[in-house]
Amino acid sequence: MLPTIQAAHLIANRWVAPAGGATLPVLDPADGEIFAYIARGNAADIDAAVIAARAAYDGGDGPWGRVPAAERGRLLARLGQEIAANAEELALLECRDTGKPMKQARADAAACARYFEYYAGACDKLHGETLPYQRGYTVLTVREPHGVTGHIIPWNYPMQIFGRSAGAALAAGNACVVKPAEDACLSLLRIAELAVKYLPEGALNIVTGLGSEAGAALSAHTGIDHISFTGSPVTGSLVAQAAAVNHRPVTLELGGKSPQIVFADADLDAALPVLINAIIQNGGQTCSAGSRVLIEQSIYAPLMARLAEAFGRLRAGPGSADLDLGPLINARQRDRVAGYIAQGERDGLRVAARGTVSEGAASSGYYIAPTLFTDVPANHALAREEVFGPVLVAMPFADEAEALRLANGTDYGLIAGLWTRDGARQLRMARKLHAGQVFINNYGAGGGVELPFGGMKHSGYGREKGFEALLGFTALKTIAISHG
Ligand code: NAD
Repeated sequence: MLPTIQAAHLIANRWVAPAGGATLPVLDPADGEIFAYIARGNAADIDAAVIAARAAYDGGDGPWGRVPAAERGRLLARLGQEIAANAEELALLECRDTGKPMKQARADAAACARYFEYYAGACDKLHGETLPYQRGYTVLTVREPHGVTGHIIPWNYPMQIFGRSAGAALAAGNACVVKPAEDACLSLLRIAELAVKYLPEGALNIVTGLGSEAGAALSAHTGIDHISFTGSPVTGSLVAQAAAVNHRPVTLELGGKSPQIVFADADLDAALPVLINAIIQNGGQTCSAGSRVLIEQSIYAPLMARLAEAFGRLRAGPGSADLDLGPLINARQRDRVAGYIAQGERDGLRVAARGTVSEGAASSGYYIAPTLFTDVPANHALAREEVFGPVLVAMPFADEAEALRLANGTDYGLIAGLWTRDGARQLRMARKLHAGQVFINNYGAGGGVELPFGGMKHSGYGREKGFEALLGFTALKTIAISHG
């Protein structure tokens, strides 16, 4: 059973009604029906949350700011355990809210708990250095929290992105104001409710609402010291511009058009299921989706035949049915993805295989059948733009140079997968790929909370995950002492 869903924000450890009194409906992507309401936050709600967070931090003297690092770690570890203990309920909420299959929702809840566990252990290991300097001086650096951090979370992986973003920021000692996506808030409201047991008032605040209202107010707020944003490049630019007015640092994670490159010497049996999962996971609504498969010419036809056979067997259905993929998040995304597929067909691109939408799926749900296009020209929109749906495009390459040219030939640079047994080629290619992460003979390494993640070019800047993320949530201060 789902927990009661509050149409309220969680500010200073209390449910707070929206200042404007307005709510937004929550739609089930599996059938388009309204099943709950959330608060429609505005600038006044963001203001209240920022005030609560500032009081919690208070220059290091507030109820959260003064908690010693080791104790902070203990509290965050307990919150991680609480998330793990409530994982099934959180997964049910996420499945209903986003449409994702239960197995993915369970994996997301487990990953969120793991982020808290990882960052809890790092709290008391985040330290500065002493620097060799002129005689008569001792110079040291200290890593201090920014103070109050803002987190704008997308709808595709709310729990995972909250864990890696707010989890790291809290571990570094910041107080957080989180604005989840209007399409997927429920799991984060529940996690914040669980956090009340462990965190002092104002350390973690959640304000729901529209991006153009609550999100914009958060980005522009002068009481925010750092913003972490995951979402589309267009919105990322708006957030960065708003933060720039106040000269606030920003981390942007903006998606990709990531290549999976398969050479003829690869272990194709190992590669095949990974190539498919990389685009089908979460219905292709994954920033790091492997949405382009580049195949060496000599194995193009046989590998495409195997890919098409497997792709044709994929089935979409309600998240609760736990098939290969669920519905997309909303009607807008479904229409957007359908538009890309229609454009490909209009332009004469060949569909090599299409999966099915299961008979049990409501016709009013936001479903798209997984689609595999073959021989897609590198300059086509399907090969260049982030579709954010279950659409895989395949193209052949002649040699290493062409593989690199194609792989690097989009505006994005988030991650890349490389399949080859040739060790020298693995390293040559890895060093030349424009991507924040390169995976060799795998794709994504199972998620890895420990592995720094982030992009180049239009995929954004700054790094999340791993210890690296903690550094981004701190400001480095240099202290030089003259002692003669
Ligand atoms: P979006 O970028 O508009 O939304 C992401 C988050 O930003 C949400 O919390 C939203 O409320 C907030 N937001 C929206 N407008 C804002 C503004 N003006 N100021 C501050 N915050 C704002 O994404 P979308 O419209 O929901 O999806 C559109 C496309 O974005 C997708 O098709 C996909 O290509 C991309 N996307 C990428 C990711 C990712 O993980 N990188 C996630 C979601 C969407």
